[in-house]
Amino acid sequence: MKDSNSLIAALQSPGVSLSEIEFILSIKDAQVQKEIRDGACQIKRKAIGNVVHYRGLIEFSNLCEKDCLYCGIRGSNPAIKRYELTLEEALSAAMFAWKSGYGSIVIQTGERTGAKFVSLMEEVVAAIKNATKGELGITLSCGEQTADTYARWFKAGAHRYLLRMETSNPELYGKIHPDNAKHSFARRLESLKIIKQIGYQLGTGVMIGLPDQTTMDLARDLLFFRELDVDMVGMGPYIEHSATPLYDQRERLLPLTERYHLSQLMISALRIMMSDINIAAATALQAIKWNGREEAILSGANIIMPNITPRTYRSQYLLYENKPCTDEHPEMCKNCLESRLRAIGEDIGYNQWGDSTHHKNRKNQSFKNILTNI
Ligand code: SAH
Ligand code: SF4
Repeated sequence: MKDSNSLIAALQSPGVSLSEIEFILSIKDAQVQKEIRDGACQIKRKAIGNVVHYRGLIEFSNLCEKDCLYCGIRGSNPAIKRYELTLEEALSAAMFAWKSGYGSIVIQTGERTGAKFVSLMEEVVAAIKNATKGELGITLSCGEQTADTYARWFKAGAHRYLLRMETSNPELYGKIHPDNAKHSFARRLESLKIIKQIGYQLGTGVMIGLPDQTTMDLARDLLFFRELDVDMVGMGPYIEHSATPLYDQRERLLPLTERYHLSQLMISALRIMMSDINIAAATALQAIKWNGREEAILSGANIIMPNITPRTYRSQYLLYENKPCTDEHPEMCKNCLESRLRAIGEDIGYNQWGDSTHHKNRKNQSFKNILTNI
């Protein structure tokens, strides 16, 4: 077998093949996995520094018009008490982030498209920008919207948008979503294109360990991110939720620990392939292992999203089961995370936006014809 240095060199090459990536993602030897993860961490530290940036996560609303087969807050789950934060509640969470020096927030919601919601989000973004003197960076993660809506929210002050592709394989996409126009692979891809064209920093990602997902699918996902020339990626393990249709397939899933290791390896491989993008340490990793996010930082991630949703709502935003920190006060999360990150030799980039240098360096802002090459 090739040594880890040559595997890392292969991933760094623009000509890396699908089968080479697949081979690396299939490695089971713990020592070789560790060497790849260490290599990715070094690449992150060289490109970005020994620094982690925070994005305070505000789970704005669990109302959702969609029905993704894997998600605990899908529209047709009747067991959920639906909520929407008021403008004041969202602003107060954002002020907590600003005063704590977080630098940026992410506002995430179920997918909603009504005119009232679109205007409310526009107001929320503008109010946060105004109250924080433009100092707080705002990422939105509110699903598929029209070009006009994306543009309005951008104009109001959001400058990053996170929309996971979930998988780059259209057939697999079809298996984890209802078969209708609201859940279309083509439409999701089109959204990514529009988001980029409007000028947002573009973030996407996938779930790892879905039923029927192959290592080749995951290898393709990594090439997809590179072809799309994304600025940010958030990817983590798929974790089953008992109130979803996909739960019926739980017997066919990889064991949680394997999903965990595969997710860490995906992060490392991506860091090696795209040294200067922002990669989030997904919270779902911590649902499997208590220090999953810190281990993701040591695998090459550089972003953590501490949950700053008002505590009363957190238990209603369960995308998957065992979601960590649903009962912790934001202040507790902050202190606990900080000491855990310092313990692994990372500083926290307080009061900085922590934009990806990839975005700054990106000369070509246009959207490539991404599906031709993968
Ligand atoms: N509604 C928006 C944002 C909220 S969902 C959207 O769908 O884009 C945010 C992400 O949570 C999804 O993109 C999906 O990747 C992830 N997610 C949902 N259910 C999950 C599960 N069961 N396990 C792991 N991740 C899940
Ligand atoms: Fe709604 Fe997003 Fe969950 Fe799909 S993944 S059901 S769009 S919240």
